[in-house]
Amino acid sequence: MTSLSNKPLPTKVEVLIIGAGAAGLMCAFVAGQRGRQILVIDHANKVGKKILISGGGRCNFTNIHCEPSNYISNNTNFCKSALSRYTPSDFIALVDKHNIAHHEKKLGQLFCDNKSKDILAMLLNECHQSGAKIRTHCNINKIKATGNYFEVNTNLGQISCQSLVIATSGLSIPKMGATGFGYQIAKQFNLDVIPTRAALVPFTVDTRTLEKLSGLSGSSLPVSVSCDNMSFKENLLFTHRGLSGPAILQISSYWKAGDHIKIDLIPEIDLFKVLKEKKRTHPKSELKTIIAQFMTKNVAQTPINLWFPDCGFVNKAINQFNHADLNSIANQFHCWHFTPNGTEGYRTAEVTLGGVNCNDISSKTMQANKHKGLYFIGEVLDVTGHLGGFNFQWAWASGAAAGEHV
Ligand SMILES: Cc1cc2nc3c(=O)[nH]c(=O)nc-3n(C[C@H](O)[C@H](O)[C@H](O)COP(=O)(O)OP(=O)(O)OC[C@H]3O[C@@H](n4cnc5c(N)ncnc54)[C@H](O)[C@@H]3O)c2cc1C
Repeated sequence: MTSLSNKPLPTKVEVLIIGAGAAGLMCAFVAGQRGRQILVIDHANKVGKKILISGGGRCNFTNIHCEPSNYISNNTNFCKSALSRYTPSDFIALVDKHNIAHHEKKLGQLFCDNKSKDILAMLLNECHQSGAKIRTHCNINKIKATGNYFEVNTNLGQISCQSLVIATSGLSIPKMGATGFGYQIAKQFNLDVIPTRAALVPFTVDTRTLEKLSGLSGSSLPVSVSCDNMSFKENLLFTHRGLSGPAILQISSYWKAGDHIKIDLIPEIDLFKVLKEKKRTHPKSELKTIIAQFMTKNVAQTPINLWFPDCGFVNKAINQFNHADLNSIANQFHCWHFTPNGTEGYRTAEVTLGGVNCNDISSKTMQANKHKGLYFIGEVLDVTGHLGGFNFQWAWASGAAAGEHV
């Protein structure tokens, strides 16, 4: 069905796309449908590996509430044009055309009912229908611009093309084939690259704090977490390395080394009010029992011991606290200032923040302003979405934008 042939590479194509992931495959069939002659090459042994592992194997392929404000970039206007021309509804129509059953899990996040491989099969089917050819195991040695053409030297032969599309993503998950190749090519053609860092990534914590939190590993609770004027209400997960869960992944994209994050462990409740009321109505109740109404006893008592070591607060009856103590306990639960000592890095990060500077790229076509025929799409650009299907929506939208022009 797809054209993953073993034939020698053609020596000339109209459009060469490097990277057979979400953005590259999208661009391939959109351009193929316009009658352009397309070849997609990838160094990996399989195409679309990140699509396959995405969304816990069910691919959170878009978000129906997608807005430019769901993206982080040094140029916040850049993503607007492509996102408005290829919307979540356009991708949903494609998914429906292929009879892929899907559902909204929460917060506008659309997932496959079955498996992520349905989305990859759909993209490959569309590529096949449009005549786009795909080759894996193809390593690129060198790229040279000569007149109106690009000469691309690979382990499978030399190819020349009129349009060259870089869809090789960022540095996240090197084990899945991620490389800094796209940034290297951008620099070769004198485009600026915004410094990168791991995003949508769990936090690590220092050994001392980790020991104190160790009993909580595997526990999860809804929180509100803030950093750098941004906040997210989602679940936090304590892990054996530190903190994870959707709330933490989201805020990690706004966190810089040394910053503290602010965690509200009981966001919906005025804890001071509750504690004062309990002191009046149930004076003999223990502090930990009262707080355990809102989370497990274990989660309730571990932070109290961390914040007030040697005070024995957790086992004390509520009538032994004055109002100042209760206020200070409530404040800690609502405003836990936590300083991660780092992140798990690109090894587990879902995305890479930063990348090819959007000021050097046309927001209409994805073509480099300084180099006719050279295009950048998907995550290699300095456009990073929030968690929840936004990163794929950017891959589809930027891929489609380039596909209309290459
Ligand atoms: C574990 C995980 C889960 C995720 N889940 C979701 C989700 O549910 N929803 C969501 O919206 N986003 C999710 N993401 C993010 C999403 O997968 C990416 O943002 C998206 O795939 C980016 O598309 P892309 O085409 O730019 O890059 P990719 O899809 O990563 O494709 C890049 C391709 O380029 C190839 N390549 C790289 N370097 C070279 C080279 N030097 N030569 C040749 N080929 C090369 C790679 O092999 C790869 O096939 C997830 C990411 C991860 C890591």
